[in-house]
Amino acid sequence: MYHQPVLKNRRTLLERAEKFVSDIYFTDCNLRGRLYGDSCPLESLASSLSAKRIKFTEASQQNFAPYRVGDTFGPTWWTCWFKLTLNIPESWRGREVHLLWESDGEAMVWRDGQPVQGLTKEGEKTSYILSACLKDEEPHSVTLYVEMACNGLFGAGKGSMIAAPDPNRKFSVQRAELVIFNRDVRELLTDFEMLIDIVKELGEGEQRGYQALFTVNEMVNLCVPSDPSTFPRTHSLAHKFFSQRNGESQHIVHAMGHCHIDSAWLWPYEETIRKCGRSWVTVIRLMEKNPDFVFTCSQAQQFQWVKSWYPGLFSQIQHFVKKGQFIPVGGTWVEMDGNLPSGESMVRQFLEGQRFFNQEFGIHCKEFWLPDTFGYSAQLPQIMQGFGISNFLTQKLSWNLVNTFPHNTFFWEGLDGSKVLTHFPPGNSYEMKGKIEELVKTMKNNKDKGRANHSAVLFGFGDGGGGPTQLMLDRLNRVRDTDGLPKVQTSSPDKLFSELRADSDLLCTWSGELFLELHNGTYTTEAQIKRGNRQCETLLHDVEVASCLALCREPTFKYPVEKLRKLWRLLLLNQFHDVIPGSCIEMVVEDALRYYEDIRSGCTALLRDACGALASKGSGAGVFNSLSWERQEVIQTQEGAGEPDLALVTVPSVGSAPVTNTEPVTPVSVTVQANGAVVMENGILQTVVNTDGTLASLYLINENREAISDSCHGNQFVMFDDVPLYWDAWDVMDYHLQTRKPVLEVVQPVQVTSSGGLRGSVSFTLRISDKSTIKQTIIMDAMCPYIKFSTEVKWAESHKFLKVEFPVRVHSPNATYEIQFGHLQRPTHRNTSWDWARFEVWGHKWADLSEHNFGVALLNDCKYGYSVHKNTMTLSLLRAPKAPDANADMGTHHFTYAIMPHTGSFQDASVIQCAYNLNFPLRLIQCTPDSAPWSAFSVSAEAVILETVKQAEDRKGALVVRLFESHGSSVTATLRTALPVREAWHCDLMERQDPNQPAPIKSGGIALNFSPFQIVSLLLIL
Ligand SMILES: [Zn+2]
Repeated sequence: MYHQPVLKNRRTLLERAEKFVSDIYFTDCNLRGRLYGDSCPLESLASSLSAKRIKFTEASQQNFAPYRVGDTFGPTWWTCWFKLTLNIPESWRGREVHLLWESDGEAMVWRDGQPVQGLTKEGEKTSYILSACLKDEEPHSVTLYVEMACNGLFGAGKGSMIAAPDPNRKFSVQRAELVIFNRDVRELLTDFEMLIDIVKELGEGEQRGYQALFTVNEMVNLCVPSDPSTFPRTHSLAHKFFSQRNGESQHIVHAMGHCHIDSAWLWPYEETIRKCGRSWVTVIRLMEKNPDFVFTCSQAQQFQWVKSWYPGLFSQIQHFVKKGQFIPVGGTWVEMDGNLPSGESMVRQFLEGQRFFNQEFGIHCKEFWLPDTFGYSAQLPQIMQGFGISNFLTQKLSWNLVNTFPHNTFFWEGLDGSKVLTHFPPGNSYEMKGKIEELVKTMKNNKDKGRANHSAVLFGFGDGGGGPTQLMLDRLNRVRDTDGLPKVQTSSPDKLFSELRADSDLLCTWSGELFLELHNGTYTTEAQIKRGNRQCETLLHDVEVASCLALCREPTFKYPVEKLRKLWRLLLLNQFHDVIPGSCIEMVVEDALRYYEDIRSGCTALLRDACGALASKGSGAGVFNSLSWERQEVIQTQEGAGEPDLALVTVPSVGSAPVTNTEPVTPVSVTVQANGAVVMENGILQTVVNTDGTLASLYLINENREAISDSCHGNQFVMFDDVPLYWDAWDVMDYHLQTRKPVLEVVQPVQVTSSGGLRGSVSFTLRISDKSTIKQTIIMDAMCPYIKFSTEVKWAESHKFLKVEFPVRVHSPNATYEIQFGHLQRPTHRNTSWDWARFEVWGHKWADLSEHNFGVALLNDCKYGYSVHKNTMTLSLLRAPKAPDANADMGTHHFTYAIMPHTGSFQDASVIQCAYNLNFPLRLIQCTPDSAPWSAFSVSAEAVILETVKQAEDRKGALVVRLFESHGSSVTATLRTALPVREAWHCDLMERQDPNQPAPIKSGGIALNFSPFQIVSLLLIL
């Protein structure tokens, strides 16, 4: 029998229960006040500061000086090691004993030289369990070490989380003592908290909420905090409520522990290693106590770090992976940005990730796991399928600023038609806490009610790490099947997706990219990182091609497997979803730029070795072309200062040729007009450059067609105010477009710098402000269908955005943008909210605006941000956000873009090939002057691009070549090779030979069929 409430007052009953478990009010007499029993100070506490992150063996040898709780130390990013000696009182026999540790830095407990537990106040982990039930034979005197990082869970932002770190922050330990922990009180508190939350979340509209209200009220009546003998009866009331079951049709929540750890963000890479250690060792402790507990963990790189820094922990992880509790997921090296990495980079993310998981754990991931990135390329479904992955879990599209994405569970169809089953957890979070609110939200928010009856709940502190807690597990355990709430089951991605797939008849399909309507500034922020990425992708490509060719031509040449793997992994690491987008602190930028330097110098040496082995030795100059078509280009034959030595060379596809200077059909002519404007012409294009560097005209000679819009100028630099709502480095908001100001001040008007022949060029300088200038050389080469703009910007702005505009004489509702292994279209109008939300978009090496039979392409060598509105094509150049990097993008920048008017379609005009040419310079090599031009590969169809040539993984004597259809057409192509290939087989992206698909080598080559945007990989056995 319940006590009858005197009045029918929901509010007083609810608040009464809340105050009974409050940690602020009435703790002198309520249940919360009884959570801890007696306490006892530590025997001794001493500390030792270190500027570096050192290993335990070194730290334990340091000199430790006495430390008093409350004393401050620092500065930021240092480490304070503590040595604790403690003596547990005999009288605590039979009790649960904790070390209570509260500090404002993240900490790790070490015992007997091993990491045993992470402690993070922000992650609700402040106690280390010394004994669950103290026995006489247990050690009562213990020595522990605590390694405390001088940074919080989210770094050390000055004033706000994403502000630049405060380099001089002081830290302290606020609490360090032994306590008796009353587990029965904790259990009862959890009962109370869950019931109170049910009352609140189910609201006044549901009778179940009232049942919870009266249950919790009666529990307050029964429970006497000072008398534990009243606890069992109180608990059994709660238990009875939680045990009242659902019907069969209830929604099912798949609960999986998770800990999203950003590989670098508001802290440097090196700290992430310790974040992984702290978070994962805590997970292992939870697994020991909770055999049901399942934890999903992504990013092979983080496992690699833990393997080398914490080998003991790594073998414990291997043990729990075998048991199926610790589940590696995602199959990628890091959780990379979903927009900016090239197609081949995306492939390598999976290749390195899947291979690592397979080698270390014997596991092949069947799902791609990318909860937190700023958009998802339309080629991802095909790449996933190439790795045997047909499931995808993400979440970030719930951040859309304008439009609500219509699905939570759906099929995502990529550019080529590949489909993957996709799930966005409806709770809109990848770091839930197991609370009622999240379970109810998961059910209510689900936009596929009736279509999909299963959802994921990922619980555990994330972003900065931390992971799940025992409390979260206890919460979820209570409501496994409680009437009125979704059913909760411990699950795995495999289980979730098989349930969803088994009942997928009613699911909808979303076709094309998953565009995030937010964080569009990340296509441009930290320009040096973007440039490093593009250049290093190019270099690694060239090293692999040249090394494969050298392997076939020079028997003593060794393919640099390990060196290449190391360099690739650095590139892949920098593609992490807060590094390549530029949303990280300055320390991370410095690390990233250093890694790019390592890749550049490593690749330069490897390229020298490979090219040396490739060509017959000699003193003559030769040229190496890594792309799969013949190229005729003007190149600079002498490095260094002074008037460049130029030559017009022709080099066959994937091959080399000696430098022989060909005369151009039409030399470039350069004429200065009376008004100072300069006319340049090369037989294909004619342009008029105004004295301020803008283009008055860009004329396609044979077609008699002007590309620049009437009474407009091309190459117009424009500045915008760029103040977002909050996420500084991330966001450019729609309203910035209202602040457009052309850059008009000429410091040095146009002057001729190359007078024609093989090259015509003019230079000029503009002033952006008293702190920033633009210096540009406009280059027209003989035989070249585009004009290059080689640009240097000295940039010292604050919250400004620099772009360059080309208003062109083209009318089309859609513009085309290059993406990974293909291209897609986006609107140039703003009809609907879905259209105008894409006011700033990403693309790779080119964008094109075409109408039937005529168009203009805008190419670039290291930029990713574009916008095409009506007939104005705009390339985003530089931003100047101040958080989280206060010095983001300050300094000198170099970049090149190019404009290319064309007839026909961009496919027929070879825009795609021209953009490759701009990005992959012909490389000078040494050869004998009489050596003949040589081609290793050629492809018969222009639509098909040979993207990659590499040595097969784990297989000397075999190459992998990767081709893709770039026009969006079904086509048959023949791959010809001069290499001694014995046989050829189709393979998947994992490079697993498909025994059912030989690729017969006929006299003409290997015939291959492509559907639009299809990626084809072949194993060539030498
Ligand atoms: Zn993240």
